[in-house]
Amino acid sequence: KYSTFAAVENPETPVKVNYTQLLIDGKFVDSVSGKTFATYDPRTGDEIAHVAEGDAEDINRAVVAARKAFDEGPWPKMTAYERSMVLFRFADLIDKHAEELAALETWNNGKTYEQASKAELPMISRLIRYYAGWADKIHGLTAPADSAHAVQTIHEPIGVAGQIIPWNFPLLMFAWKVAPALACGNTIVLKTAEQTPLSALYAAKLLHEAGLPSGVLNVVSGFGPTAGAALASHMDVDKLAFTGSTQTGKIVLELAAKSNLKPVTLELGGKSPFIVCKDADIDTAVELAHFALFFNQGQCCCAGSRTYVHESVYDEFVQKAKERALKRTVGDPFKAGIEQGPQIDSEQFEKILRYIRSGVDNGATLETGGERLGDKGYYIQPTVFSNVKEDMLIAQDEIFGPVQSILKFKDIDEVVRRANNTSYGLAAGVFTKDIDTANTLTRALRVGTVWVNCYDVFDAAIPFGGYKMSGQGREKGIHCLSNYLQVKAVVTPLKNP
Ligand code: ADP
Repeated sequence: KYSTFAAVENPETPVKVNYTQLLIDGKFVDSVSGKTFATYDPRTGDEIAHVAEGDAEDINRAVVAARKAFDEGPWPKMTAYERSMVLFRFADLIDKHAEELAALETWNNGKTYEQASKAELPMISRLIRYYAGWADKIHGLTAPADSAHAVQTIHEPIGVAGQIIPWNFPLLMFAWKVAPALACGNTIVLKTAEQTPLSALYAAKLLHEAGLPSGVLNVVSGFGPTAGAALASHMDVDKLAFTGSTQTGKIVLELAAKSNLKPVTLELGGKSPFIVCKDADIDTAVELAHFALFFNQGQCCCAGSRTYVHESVYDEFVQKAKERALKRTVGDPFKAGIEQGPQIDSEQFEKILRYIRSGVDNGATLETGGERLGDKGYYIQPTVFSNVKEDMLIAQDEIFGPVQSILKFKDIDEVVRRANNTSYGLAAGVFTKDIDTANTLTRALRVGTVWVNCYDVFDAAIPFGGYKMSGQGREKGIHCLSNYLQVKAVVTPLKNP
């Protein structure tokens, strides 16, 4: 059982940490206060490095730099083609340094190196190229008028964008935020998550190497209630984009409203249903449901964390889901063949274990797992609960860990009602061979993404975002551009009066 697990006794330093300061106006600088904070290796809980700790004063310095870069140029005044070429060169540099970036990501986050290097880094450079391609294809329209006027629309960058990102996909979230904002000609102050400050600093340095002018992208490491709140409430930030918990999303939306009413896009939590219908091929469904939940240590906002299985195949599914979880290889994320590394930090680790205890206390059947693994770092056994009922905490709250909850359903109307009976609406998985069932479910589910017979497909052109309390607005694809553009109408009489 979990035979591949090996605690990391003396981990080697996987990669050199070159950048630990704040990046403001094109230069790495210490914070005004001189304060630093430690960032950790989740495999052991050991310190990796100390990084500069930004707070309100540093955010302000960064906003001043971004404002100047926006108002005085050259960035918004460069041709769109020139901006596009900076992004294309950036993508090439990401590819060139992919191994170091993936190593930083694994070291600071605990995700497997295989996932970081083979899945995430290629996705990141692909997404940057996607938005590089958009930069010179953004343009307005001419519109008809009832009077004798010529009407045109001009799509302009909004200005200084504030961006706050989480720790579960540090570099991917950096790319999702930065690439579209830059393609549209904005300047940026980005705050990384306090758990994972390292990879974004490295990537930001590469972006400058690719030709980004000083002040266009400023990166501030720091904590939420200080640096994050200062950014959300800054009077000279023109737009805010946030990814994180629903609870914090409400706070930043309020801060934005109370300050200068900056428009806000939010990508928040979820409790996504994964629905296995009676006609499904069970082995494939088990594998996909397993992936939908356990991917990235279960630390995905769109994790398929409510596995609904039709009663006619329920017992077989549960048995096979348990067997699959038992086979999951957990251990040092740098080792080949490992599927699951440690959780991000002690806080999340303890929270997940509390949820597991609540599942047991509330009478769900613990099929496998439920404990920590080893005595070092934040490893948790892949955990499967069956006989989960709707009102249990594990069926309602976002656990953000390797805990699969399997529920039973009888018919499609019922599962739609139950799947939608949540304040979240981020994603859903539908597993069926029947086209009518697929059509019914895809239309009835109140979520931003429905994956039919697949899960977690994240191409650059596919929009991503939530219904209800899972968020506002969409990232990726063509839809994200409008988050970073103002539309100006210009009206001219056809004949001078
Ligand atoms: P999690 O609970 O998964 O860490 P959060 O929503 O707290 O998720 O964190 C996501 C991002 O939001 C992080 O960059 C964090 O620092 C930031 N953050 C947390 N609290 C606040 C806040 N009060 N104001 C602004 N940003 C915050």
